[in-house]
Amino acid sequence: MPDITRDQVLEQLKAVRGPEGGDIVSLGLVSDIVVSGAKVMFSITVPAEKAASLEPLRAAAEAAVRDLPGVEGAMVVLTAEKKGGAGAPGGATQPPRPAGTQAPPPRQQPAAAPPRGKAGIPGIDAIVAVASGKGGVGKSTTAVNLALALKANGLRVGILDADIYGPSLPRLLDLKDKKPEIISGRTLRALDAYGVKVMSIGFLVEEETPMIWRGPMVISALNQMMREVEWGDLDILVVDMPPGTGDAQLTMAQQVPLAGAIIVSTPQDLALIDARRGLAMFQRVDVPVLGIVENMSYFLCPHCGERTDIFSHGGARKEAETLGVPFLGEVPLDLRIRETSDAGTPIVASDPESPYAKVYREVATKVWDGIQRDRSEGGRPPPKIVIE
Ligand code: ADP
Repeated sequence: MPDITRDQVLEQLKAVRGPEGGDIVSLGLVSDIVVSGAKVMFSITVPAEKAASLEPLRAAAEAAVRDLPGVEGAMVVLTAEKKGGAGAPGGATQPPRPAGTQAPPPRQQPAAAPPRGKAGIPGIDAIVAVASGKGGVGKSTTAVNLALALKANGLRVGILDADIYGPSLPRLLDLKDKKPEIISGRTLRALDAYGVKVMSIGFLVEEETPMIWRGPMVISALNQMMREVEWGDLDILVVDMPPGTGDAQLTMAQQVPLAGAIIVSTPQDLALIDARRGLAMFQRVDVPVLGIVENMSYFLCPHCGERTDIFSHGGARKEAETLGVPFLGEVPLDLRIRETSDAGTPIVASDPESPYAKVYREVATKVWDGIQRDRSEGGRPPPKIVIE
């Protein structure tokens, strides 16, 4: 079957009427068409105040594209048009408001209001974010092993890949060619890996597909992945956040009803500065930081068992003390962690007796205790963070 083209998608969408007559293509409302194999994604620009009532339009556009021969999946998001005078394109002080059709209504300014009152997800008791100030520090590896360790500790666990720019959960959990089943309308059933429920944008697009999504699309897609998925009853949902601390991350941190956040950092000073930005970001949206995990902390020689502190280890522990946030644990730099990650058999599941699995289980215990403590204290004030 030849590849689906953007023109075919546009042609098909000409049958969809706009909010006030005309078709959505001629009205210039369709943008950001991404075709990836048999999957199609695009956005429809609508007035922000009408977003909630335009769900039928979104659904009709999605259905029209799904009807194209060769299309296996379509994801359509509504994005809000920018009001005139809101600033230069790309340099607007205020990002276009995501016109997601799902509750809760997105906020206009990512940094403005705290997340109190955000609608939770029915059936999910606590949502925690795993974040890092920059990429490549082992955030996803930590998120996956943490989720499995929480499960090993007896909890009902899910993991959501919100790393929309580089989804890696399908690979890390050996679900690369799996597709979530559609159960009713547009609700997807989460996949299962080692007893943990899993959802990732990577099930809809290839990991290698460069994603050039605008902020509002990201938020809308995230909302869809959280709220239109049958997770079942979960004690905890671990969210693997995209790396960094830009506006997109901030908005996400604000959108997701988080019980707390975990920051992953390597011991290098540079990474710690980034980690501090991560802390500051959660502080801005009033999400308690459950603690810092130091990843690639030290090297344990597999032959002689000798421990080498490759990057002056201990930085994260000291930093956590200075900042007044809990230190959750040190994960060694180890080939087995990398190999098992790459093979889709994370160490906590594939070698639960290993010392590494034990480290992750201890981190999991501290995370869960932290959530319970915060709840019994009615939420503790976030630490004061200063970025020098
Ligand atoms: P991020 O999500 O921060 O970009 P990943 O979890 O994808 O980082 O990890 C980056 C690379 O480092 C991967 O190849 C992963 O297997 C490897 N890695 C992560 N943590 C460790 C560790 N503790 N020891 C060895 N390799 C690790």
